[in-house]
Amino acid sequence: MNECITKLLAATLVAGSSVCAAAQSPADARYQAWPTYDGDDLEMTVGADGTRFRLWSPEAEAARVYLYNTDRNTAPYDTLEMARAEQGTWRASVAEPLYGKFYTFSIKHDGRWLSETPGVWAKAVGTNGERAAIIDMSLTDPEGWGDDRGPQVDNLTDVVLYEMHHRDYSMHPSSGIVHKGKFLALTEPGTHNSYGQTTGIDHLKELGVTHVHILPSYDYNSVDEANLPANQYNWGYDPQNYNAPEGSYSTDPADPSVRIREMKEMIKALHDAGIGVVMDVVYNHTAQNDDSNFSLTAPGYYYRHRADGSYSDASGCGNETASDHKQMGDFIVNSVKYWADEYHIDGFRFDLMAIHDTETMNRVAAELHKINPSIFVYGEGWTAGDSPLAPERRALKENVSKMDGIAVFSDDIRDAVKGHYSRADERGFATGKPGSEETVKIGIVASTAHPQVDYSKGNNSKFAYATSPEMIINYVSCHDDLMLTDKLAHSMPGSTEADRQRAARLAQTIVFTSQGTPFMFAGEEIFRDKQGVHNSYKSPDSINAINWDLKHANADQYDYYRELIKLRKSHPAFRMTTADDIARNIVFDKTEVPNLISYSIKNNANGDEWSEIKLVFNGADEAREVNVPKGNWIVIARDGKIKADGLDMARGGRMTVEPTSALILAKKK
Ligand code: CA
Repeated sequence: MNECITKLLAATLVAGSSVCAAAQSPADARYQAWPTYDGDDLEMTVGADGTRFRLWSPEAEAARVYLYNTDRNTAPYDTLEMARAEQGTWRASVAEPLYGKFYTFSIKHDGRWLSETPGVWAKAVGTNGERAAIIDMSLTDPEGWGDDRGPQVDNLTDVVLYEMHHRDYSMHPSSGIVHKGKFLALTEPGTHNSYGQTTGIDHLKELGVTHVHILPSYDYNSVDEANLPANQYNWGYDPQNYNAPEGSYSTDPADPSVRIREMKEMIKALHDAGIGVVMDVVYNHTAQNDDSNFSLTAPGYYYRHRADGSYSDASGCGNETASDHKQMGDFIVNSVKYWADEYHIDGFRFDLMAIHDTETMNRVAAELHKINPSIFVYGEGWTAGDSPLAPERRALKENVSKMDGIAVFSDDIRDAVKGHYSRADERGFATGKPGSEETVKIGIVASTAHPQVDYSKGNNSKFAYATSPEMIINYVSCHDDLMLTDKLAHSMPGSTEADRQRAARLAQTIVFTSQGTPFMFAGEEIFRDKQGVHNSYKSPDSINAINWDLKHANADQYDYYRELIKLRKSHPAFRMTTADDIARNIVFDKTEVPNLISYSIKNNANGDEWSEIKLVFNGADEAREVNVPKGNWIVIARDGKIKADGLDMARGGRMTVEPTSALILAKKK
């Protein structure tokens, strides 16, 4: 199923007239009329008084529970026939608590018994997620879990996101980490590369990011948990059990408690370090169609369909789920609530979020914020294909202002700064291609309305779709497509590594000084690469694992990133919280020169100690001259160097901005 990923990443659909949704199919209209169940005891609950099963499957002709002593390869020791109950559910129970046992469901549909399934609400599973497990969840809590809290977030623009994959981060021998590729990797303090420099969780603290955004960590389909020595790699965008952790990241996939406890230990270690944990969630499609847990419990219901009854496919992966069908919308809401409650997750990144409807996403944010107001919800505001869901209902980036407490990725700044995401050879603003200046400005003001930004000249979006900077995630690189290092190598033939590192510094300087929330991909700070692989979803560790010895080789690059993050965190002017503040405090200078942007952040913006910050970005490979008002300027960045506390002083007047670099000046009054 993972071939879908290529298409999935490539798509950026724009809302409006260019998108013409298919009409709702008769099948979907029928599913929407099914009775739904809103109790909190779906599938399995256990306590001292017994074990109860309740499966939602309105059109099943019969339903069973199979009980097992082990997680796989054994016959059931008992079978329970379920009885019809209220709101489309089926019930069965056993008088004793079946801790340590496993179960599956099977339903009779169109006269035949379907394959067994652990259901859609399995919270503990054995090897490969084949059977659900009955465990005492309280025994999975690490010591001190009751007092565990993630970082409090006052404004989303204060967050610095760092996207990582468990294996990328720890598999390389140079990580010095014992539990390579496991949840536990991030619980190990004091790890070092070959040069004695910090790696692992200590590296995160040293870099200064506020949140890690970890690629899918729920149970996914592609990696065989029964054969972990094979060292398979997958990003994990192939969901299987949405409410249990992935087994291959645990030290023992066969013991259902271990993956849960180890994931909690990871989260606690990060929280103890002051770092929040964002989970990447992929509710938009399932790895399988007719054999998915959704299909095996309530055939057809959880998906959208075409007029001919086939699966519609806005995910590019063979199906799309139907958040507008109540039981599916409820499933998404209740699933993220579960992760927030049970695992103390601090944020959720929704893959292909525009497959979901805005009403469901608003419920997601509202319910999560009742649990913890600091929870950050954001997603990809696009689909990878057409959907029967009307464009105005989709959680598209262009509809972000219809949502409350949800942010979207800005593909505007991404493509404008470094060049188009899929046209590998195409350059962007930071690498000398003219024509993207206005789109970079759209990024600087976080896609909010600004009197000096002409959205009609935007490369991607043609209007100010955000009404607050808290709706926008800025980035130039992520796990998808060519990561920044590889993009620069592709698009700058004949360049030196030093040239490309300069371009990376400029690109990230634009991102980290822009309004909105910055996001970076793990290892960019030490100039890792993926050897030019644009879709490394199942590439081996030799492509994906970060070589931490690069931290020594590229020490200057690392220092630059660290200072850049420190600059942003030290100065609220880069983290304004309203569109009005941005429109009032950001003033662009008129420049008619290609690949040059000059602007000021004025008025001690957002309570900053600096009365004015002057930022000049020169994306050309030749020096430019700019006029800076006379004054006592602290030089923050110049000629590929940066220091949050200042490199030296300057008096203004005619100043040179070196090729492919940022000039940042600040003054106190
Ligand atoms: Ca799995």
